[in-house]
Amino acid sequence: MKFDADRFKENLSARLKRQYGKDISQASKHDLFDAVSASVLEIIMENWMATRHEYEKKPVKQLYYLSAEFLMGRALSNNLINAEISSQVKEVLKGMNIDYDMIEDQEPDAGLGNGGLGRLAACFLDSLATLDYPGHGYGIRYRYGMFEQKIENGYQVEYPDNWLAHRDPWEIKRSDLSVTVKFGGNIAYGKTPDGRDRYYIENAEEVTATPYDMPIVGFGTGTVNTLRLWQASSPNGFDLQLFNNMEYNRAVERQNSAENISAVLYPNDSGPSGKALRLKQQYFFSSASLQDLVRHYVADHGTDFSKFADLHVIQLNDTHPVVAIPELMRILMDEYNVGWDDAWNVVTHTFAYTNHTILAEALEKWPIEIFQGLLPRIYQIVEEINRRFMIQLREKYPNDYAKHGRMSIINDGKVYMAWLAIHAGFSVNGVAELHTRLLKEQELRDWYELYPEKFNNKTNGITQRRWLLSANEELSEFITKRIGHGWEKDLTKLKGLEKFTGDKDLNELIAIKEHNKRRLADYLKHAQNEIIDADSIFDVQVKRLHEYKRQLMNILHIMYVYNKMLEDPNYKPAKKTYIFGAKSASGYRRAKSIIKLINTVAERINNDRRVNDRLHVVFVENYRVSVAEKIFPAADVSEQISTAGLEASGTSNMKF
Ligand SMILES: *Cc1c(COP(=O)(O)O)cnc(C)c1O
Repeated sequence: MKFDADRFKENLSARLKRQYGKDISQASKHDLFDAVSASVLEIIMENWMATRHEYEKKPVKQLYYLSAEFLMGRALSNNLINAEISSQVKEVLKGMNIDYDMIEDQEPDAGLGNGGLGRLAACFLDSLATLDYPGHGYGIRYRYGMFEQKIENGYQVEYPDNWLAHRDPWEIKRSDLSVTVKFGGNIAYGKTPDGRDRYYIENAEEVTATPYDMPIVGFGTGTVNTLRLWQASSPNGFDLQLFNNMEYNRAVERQNSAENISAVLYPNDSGPSGKALRLKQQYFFSSASLQDLVRHYVADHGTDFSKFADLHVIQLNDTHPVVAIPELMRILMDEYNVGWDDAWNVVTHTFAYTNHTILAEALEKWPIEIFQGLLPRIYQIVEEINRRFMIQLREKYPNDYAKHGRMSIINDGKVYMAWLAIHAGFSVNGVAELHTRLLKEQELRDWYELYPEKFNNKTNGITQRRWLLSANEELSEFITKRIGHGWEKDLTKLKGLEKFTGDKDLNELIAIKEHNKRRLADYLKHAQNEIIDADSIFDVQVKRLHEYKRQLMNILHIMYVYNKMLEDPNYKPAKKTYIFGAKSASGYRRAKSIIKLINTVAERINNDRRVNDRLHVVFVENYRVSVAEKIFPAADVSEQISTAGLEASGTSNMKF
């Protein structure tokens, strides 16, 4: 992208003046972060607009990645690197006596996800833009992201993640594109002009969905795609009548009820919350996204939807947005008079579903009372989808009543979201070779037998732009010095490193690792007053706390090593620092006990003079993307020890 140093400097000063009424010498660290980011966004904006025009000029099939989670982390450094203006901006700041690292550290993580599933969504967006695919994200602009974790007396304590305390310089509010999402109410019907039944909802709770757009900057290309996150609010604000009657609580009730929908990310990784508010979140962003797409389509192509599936593919990240399927049926039938068969034909060529887990408890199923109460018309459509599906099943397997029960989308008082996705979608993928095989042979066996052509594998990946180029600058230079550029977009090029095995190369590598270990040691000293020995082996397990991931086995092993060191004077293992980082779902008691155990063992070992020059245990507080970026480059040993067959893919293995 084009960079003009003088213009950047002017822009920066102008922003500080306009936004904060300050000049550079008066600006706080945060003011500077905000003004630098805004000035960078201005540079990116040209390509963002150009990309949108490009897609609009020649209609191409576009991908929409619907996900309840986007674990983006920080944007500034990543955007600078991807826009290839990093060194220029740093140069300008240096000339102004502004410390870039200090500015970078002001940015809060956009922690709008739990773990692997949300980070995958973020890495995919980076790769789509980098490879010039027209692929965009749709999600929720949570007011509070993943909670902030503090360790108090060895226990995890959760604090709200107020990431929007200051304004977010990367987002653009698009009030002009707001839509209305309806909840509850009752179903009414009249007739369409051609005499068919036409359904609509009366007395619904109406919620306004307002999009906030963030740029997704491709690396070394002009492509800038969009992450569109929806925020909920009440269309009527508070009730002035009630307010004037001094009924203040009731006056803001409706407002609060609407705003609650996008208030907070549920902190459950690999497991459902079962809460009605969560279903509200799912329908809220699914409906808003579909309304957005259909509105745009109708503006360009009118109400003949026969081309819709040629221009859209909607990838459902797990079952969280699966309610988008009956929502598209509803929009087409109730708002545009499309008949069932034509609507179904659009839907079955548009949606694709990614399964992320084989843990039985993680499959989302909603009790009918909750589902029907919140989404009466959507429930009616799901019933009709299932009625037609059951006819098809009975024809194919006339006497296998057990199978009819197992595959029914509505069964036992519940709506099975995964079954709906597999039946209505054209593609079902697992996230690793083994995981996909286990789905076909076990969890989804009936479905594989019925729809073998839908099943495929897409092994998870990570973006080397964030996890290597940005997180490990020295190693990146080491690589580029030997094999040149190109690996930033095509990681297979790293194969060229195979011939650099001389002592000089290896010593240089070791020096880089040592430097990264000192950097992590500095961070831990600064962040939690933990002193670690950078000359020891860093043995690292960082991921969500879950029994299947077996942090418990790791800490039991450490307890064994500790006891053996005390009992056996001949046992002299290499100096080691065991590093854990993990958040637990707030209601997951066993996981929380394991965190307490790790901290109790750490306290004992770290204070035992007999071993503490050779053995150390650290629990990194508040593990998140920006901390992960410091941990991976410093690791010597990567712990990937989850129970065989239970980890669908795992991605931090790749970051290591
Ligand atoms: C990559 C990543 C994860 C996923 O880790 P797994 O080991 O694959 O479970 C979770 N949290 C953060 C912050 C990550 O960067």
